[in-house]
Amino acid sequence: MKILITGGAGYIGSHIGIELLNNGYDIIIIDNYCNSDRNVIRIMQQIAGKSFLSYDCDLRDKHQMEMVFRENAISAVIHCAGLKCVPESIANPIPYYQNNIGGTLNLLECMKRYGVYKIVFSSSATVYGLNNPVPYKEEMLLSATNPYGWTKIMIEQILKDFTTAEKDMKAAILRYFNPIGAHPSGLIGEKPEGIPNNLMPYLCQAAAGKLPSIKICGTDYRTADGTGVRDYIHVCDLVKGHVKALEKLDFLTGTEIYNLGTGKGSSVLKLITTFETVNGIKLKREISKRRPGDIDESYADVSKADKELGWKTELSLEDMCRDSWNYIKKNYAVSTE
Ligand code: NAD
Ligand code: UDP
Repeated sequence: MKILITGGAGYIGSHIGIELLNNGYDIIIIDNYCNSDRNVIRIMQQIAGKSFLSYDCDLRDKHQMEMVFRENAISAVIHCAGLKCVPESIANPIPYYQNNIGGTLNLLECMKRYGVYKIVFSSSATVYGLNNPVPYKEEMLLSATNPYGWTKIMIEQILKDFTTAEKDMKAAILRYFNPIGAHPSGLIGEKPEGIPNNLMPYLCQAAAGKLPSIKICGTDYRTADGTGVRDYIHVCDLVKGHVKALEKLDFLTGTEIYNLGTGKGSSVLKLITTFETVNGIKLKREISKRRPGDIDESYADVSKADKELGWKTELSLEDMCRDSWNYIKKNYAVSTE
């Protein structure tokens, strides 16, 4: 079975690729490398000990996309490609809509034309918005606080409409909570670029001496220790959920949605202290103001994925902190001062 991974050179897509290869699937990757490195393809092949085709292709390029579908007998698509930086999406929304929505529409048209009927889509817990109580359940009402989040809600709706209209088409929407960690080899992981917006990349850059301190954004949240709570999930657990979703698609009709999280929230302080303990590093802390639009708590109800996909997480917060840092240590200059 040949699976097309869009955005397959990215953080999550590259881990999915290795997991699929390890499970006996063939893969093809499409990426335009706007947020990833071409070397990742070679490294993935090295880790998995298998080769595969990759296309330097933008999802919005109709001509090139046609070529990919014409040249390959694709059984299913895992659609990870997209822009994902929240502040950037607020500052410059049009490219976000153009890329995320435009790319998806083009992909779905190709799938229809070439009779590819199965898609797994990378959605996000951000679609639960500001007003739902935790734990988040798949059937809750959706809203977004930024253009990035709206692109996820819109794509989810497009998939529902598309699978309703096209009776053979099936979609599994996976709502990721907070993926962190990296492959245990330390050879692939989340690419650190500029000043990170997300907590774990920020911690890693501070630990690497690239930032003077870590920033705790808000200590007055309605949580046990006052800092924001999120459901961090190891990327290696997350990608196993994709294999389960792919298998499940054969037995589904229409669109199904699954939360992929641990079901457990951890505060900013908990993540920092775990990172320090596991890695034997002490980080300088700075209390900063809340980020606009940030919620107190976000964690998943994972009972649907457990019951219907037979999937649950296995790796701990300690594993996540160790593997995130292992990747940075192995691949980027780290100051020991
Ligand atoms: P990433 O940026 O590392 O990977 C996305 C990949 O898509 C990149 O390699 C990029 O070059 C590629 N890409 C973007 N636009 C493209 C286009 N038009 N054509 C071809 N390739 C294109 O991001 P990631 O963290 O691996 O996230 C993967 C998916 O999961 C995204 O859709 C993201 O929104 C979603 N998601 C990520 C997180 C997270 O915390 N990482 C959380 C929830 C959801
Ligand atoms: N956060 C923080 N310092 C940072 C980045 C984030 O304290 O430098 C906090 C943020 O307020 C939130 C948590 O860490 O409570 C997770 O933020 P992240 O951006 O990683 O995930 P998201 O909020 O998008 O779920």
